[in-house]
Amino acid sequence: MNVSEQEQDIVIVGGGICGLATALALRRKGIKSMVLERSETLRAAGVGIIMQPNGWRALDQLGVAAKLRQTCTEIPSGVFISVAEGKYRESELPLGKGELRCLKRMELMKALTEELPVESVYLGCRAVSIVLDPLTSNPLLQLHDGTLIKAKIVIGCDGVNSIISKFVGVNSPKLFSRCATRGFTYYEGAHSFGDKFRFYSSNDVTLGQLPVTDKLVYWFLTRVLTSQDLSDAKKDPTYITKASLEAIKGFPEEIVELVKNTEPKALYLTELRYRAPWDLVHAKFRKGTVVVAGDAMHAMCPFISQGGGASLEDAVVLARCLSEKLKQAKEGGGNRLVEEALDEYVRERRMRVFWLSLQTYFMGLAQDNTSKVKKALGIAGLILVFGDQRSHTDYDCGRL
Ligand SMILES: Cc1cc2nc3c(=O)[nH]c(=O)nc-3n(C[C@H](O)[C@H](O)[C@H](O)COP(=O)(O)OP(=O)(O)OC[C@H]3O[C@@H](n4cnc5c(N)ncnc54)[C@H](O)[C@@H]3O)c2cc1C
Repeated sequence: MNVSEQEQDIVIVGGGICGLATALALRRKGIKSMVLERSETLRAAGVGIIMQPNGWRALDQLGVAAKLRQTCTEIPSGVFISVAEGKYRESELPLGKGELRCLKRMELMKALTEELPVESVYLGCRAVSIVLDPLTSNPLLQLHDGTLIKAKIVIGCDGVNSIISKFVGVNSPKLFSRCATRGFTYYEGAHSFGDKFRFYSSNDVTLGQLPVTDKLVYWFLTRVLTSQDLSDAKKDPTYITKASLEAIKGFPEEIVELVKNTEPKALYLTELRYRAPWDLVHAKFRKGTVVVAGDAMHAMCPFISQGGGASLEDAVVLARCLSEKLKQAKEGGGNRLVEEALDEYVRERRMRVFWLSLQTYFMGLAQDNTSKVKKALGIAGLILVFGDQRSHTDYDCGRL
C-alpha cells in the first residue's frame, strides 16, 4: 500500500484488537480515521481470546457482539482442578456474572474489520517516529518508507512495545518471570470436554481449557520462563509441544492428549511483558494530541484474561469523549478541545486499568512458586485488596 505524503485528521497506529475497535467506535460516531498496521496482513497471534461480560458489553456497543456470539459457545460454569502427585481435587471455579465465551481472535479481527471501509486500513505501514510540529503543535508521523503524515490526532494502539507510548512518556514494559503457551485443538467429531471452563493448577503450572465450539477447544498454559524460551527455540513448534508436555506431567490423560493433538500452526509460546501497575497511576498517557490505548497503555499479563476486554473498553470511551468535543471544535477551539477530550478519556480509564493490572500482578505473584515471599504477597494482595475476585467483570464502559 502506497501512502503518499498527506494530511489526516485521526491516525491510529496499530491494527490489532484495540486499533480496529477504536476505528470502528469512531466510525459509529461518524468520525473518519486511518489505521496503519505494520504487518502485511491483519495478525491474530495467540489463536483464542477469553471474552468476559465487560468485554461483551463493549462489543455490544461496537455493534459486533451478535455476529460474534454465533461463532462460539457460551460457557456457563467452571471447575478448578488441583493436581498433586497424580491426584485431582475438584472445586467450583467462580466465573463473573454474565456472559463468558472464548473467541477465535481471527473472528474478532474479522468482525471489526468488516465494519470498516476498506480504504481506512493500511497494511504494511510501520510508524518509525513521531514528533510534534513546532509551528502547529500537531503530530508528525514518519513511516518506514519515509512518508510523513501530518495528523491532527494520533492514537497509539501499537501494542506492548509501542513507540507512541515511549513518545508520550510511558515507562518501558517489564518481563514477567512466567511464560504462556496457547493452542487450539480441532476435533473431527464433537469433543468430549463439554461447555465448562476447566482450570488445572499444579505446583508450578496452570492450564486452562475452554470450548470455542463443539469441535474446537482452546487451551493455555503458564509456567516459569526459561532461557530456552527466550531463545529462537520458541519459534520451533516441536520445542513448544515438548516443553508443554514436560510441564503437564501428571495431568489427566485427556489434557495430555489435548496438548499432543494441537497442530503446530495453532501453537504459540509468548513471553509475558507488562506495564507495572504503580507506573499506571501517574503515567502521562497523552502528549499534545497524541494518546495511547490498549496494550500500548496498559499491557498486562493474561492471568485474569482482561487485556483484550480492557482494550475494547478503551475504544468505546475514547470515541465517546472525542465525539463530544469534536462537535464543539467545529465552532473553534480545535487543539484545546481535543486535548480536553483526551484528558477526559485518560481520567476515565486510568483507575480502571490500574485495578485490572494490580489484580493481574498479584495473581501472577500468587502463582510464583520460586519465591515464598512473592507468593505470600500475591495471595495476601488478592485477599486483602480484591475480596470479590470476579468483580472486574461487572464493569460497564457505558454507551458509545
Ligand atoms: C498469552 C496471552 C493471553 C491473553 N489472553 C487474553 C484473553 O484471554 N482475554 C483478553 O481479554 N486478553 C488476553 N490477552 C491480552 C490481549 O491479547 C491484549 O491485551 C490485546 O491483544 C491488546 O490489543 P492491542 O491492539 O492493544 O495490541 P496488539 O494486539 O499487540 O496489536 C498491536 C498492533 O500494532 C501493530 N504495530 C506495532 N507497532 C507498530 C508500528 N510501529 N506501526 C504500525 N503498526 C504497529 C502490531 O503489528 C499489532 O498488529 C492475552 C495476552 C497474552 C500475551
